[in-house]
Amino acid sequence: MKVLLTEDQLRDGIQRMANEIREHYAGRPLTIVGVLIGSVVLLADLIRRLDIPLRVEIIQARSYRGTRPGPLALNLDMLGEIRGREVLLVDDIFDTGHTLSELIPELDDQGPLSIRTAVLLRKQGQATVPFQPNFVGFDIPNLFVVGFGLDYRDMYRNLPYVAALEAGEITEEEGR
Ligand code: 5GP
Ligand code: MG
Repeated sequence: MKVLLTEDQLRDGIQRMANEIREHYAGRPLTIVGVLIGSVVLLADLIRRLDIPLRVEIIQARSYRGTRPGPLALNLDMLGEIRGREVLLVDDIFDTGHTLSELIPELDDQGPLSIRTAVLLRKQGQATVPFQPNFVGFDIPNLFVVGFGLDYRDMYRNLPYVAALEAGEITEEEGR
C-alpha cells in the first residue's frame, strides 16, 4: 500500500473545503447530504469545521464490487425533507461522475432550492459526465484508493490516511 495523502494533508484540505463552502453559502441555511458509506469520515470532519447553520441527511449509493464499478444501487429512504433547501451532496470520490450524475436528478425531484456537490477526491481525467464537483479536496491520479472512508471489499475504511492499493493487494476474482 502506498500512502497518497497523510493525515496532515487531509486535515488541511478539509479545512480549505470548509472555508470555501462557508464563503459560498454565506449564512444561507444548508442541508448536507452525505452519501453512505464512503463519505462518513469526510462528513464527520467537514461538518465539524463548518460553523454555519446546517442540517445533515444521509442517502446510500453503492456501485463498486471490489475494484470494479457495477450497477448503481440507490437508497433514499433515510433522506429527510430537502424541499426549498440549499443542498450540498457530499461523496468520497469523483471518478467517472456516474454516481453523482444519477443522484442529482433523484434529489432534484424533491424540490430543493439548489444542489451542489463536494468530494474529498477527484480522479484526474476520468470524468465521463459533463460536469465537475463544486468543491474538491484533492486531485489524485487514476489509482484504486482506500482509507478515510473508502473501502476495498468493505475493509480499510478506518485508515486515517488515503493509500493506493498495489497490484499484489488486489485479488482479481471479484465474484460479480
Ligand atoms: P463514479 O460514479 O464517479 O465513477 O465513482 C464514484 C464512486 O465509485 C465513489 O463514490 C466510490 O464509491 C467508488 N470509487 C471510485 N473510485 C474508487 C477508488 O479508487 N476506491 C474506492 N474505494 N472506491 C472508488
Ligand atoms: Mg460511493
